[in-house]
Amino acid sequence: MEKQNLQLLRDALAAWDIPASDAQLNALVGFYELVTDANSRFNLTAISDERDFVIKHILDSASAAPLIGQGARLIDIGAGAGFPGLPLAVLREDISVTALDSTAKKMSFLSASASALGVKNLTTVAGRAEEQSSLFCKFDVATARAVASLNILLELASPLLKTDGKFIAYKSDASELPLAQNALATLKMRHVSTTSLDIFGNSRALLTFEKLAPTPHGYPRRYGSIKKSPL
Ligand code: SAH
Repeated sequence: MEKQNLQLLRDALAAWDIPASDAQLNALVGFYELVTDANSRFNLTAISDERDFVIKHILDSASAAPLIGQGARLIDIGAGAGFPGLPLAVLREDISVTALDSTAKKMSFLSASASALGVKNLTTVAGRAEEQSSLFCKFDVATARAVASLNILLELASPLLKTDGKFIAYKSDASELPLAQNALATLKMRHVSTTSLDIFGNSRALLTFEKLAPTPHGYPRRYGSIKKSPL
């Protein structure tokens, strides 16, 4: 990675008070190389420019790091190539990250990458979020970026969380909130906060929700119903 892009990464993390050792920065740069290399074989990201990758993938993923509690068990729903799960695992060695995606080849790539980079606090699961009953009620935090509309995401995330667990939705703004009121009421969740950031010209809103009570019986539904009649 070019010096100025590494410096950009280092400075932006420092400005957000996210500590990053040289080893952690090396892992993030290494991940850039692995994604770029694999991208020529199968489509992982539309972003190939190095500076764009630092801003739109690494820093964007990292932006929620300060919102995650110490030692949290976190699940990244629809992690794809590993965003935001991998950067969060690298920068927060105290948490454990489960990256979940329905596309098995993406999870193979991510799990091989985590091993190659020496990232020990990330594991992968290939499958659909709404079908992972063995993972229900196991997580303190769930994240999702670029996966589905907010009302759909709430139905995917709520079952995976412990009561009092938090769901952090990476959205560009808060405009989906009004449409998610029914999903929140039905699933017994509430909107806690919105953190709005401008990451080098890209707007990011981190919408945080809390699970107030166990997910009501009958949820999550099968994906067909979730999509056809979202809450
Ligand atoms: N979060 C990544 C990938 C976004 S693409 C990023 O921001 O770069 C959306 C991903 O969500 C795809 O890889 C798709 O396979 C996955 N996905 C969509 N619905 C899902 C579901 N119900 N369960 C698990 N993964 C899902």
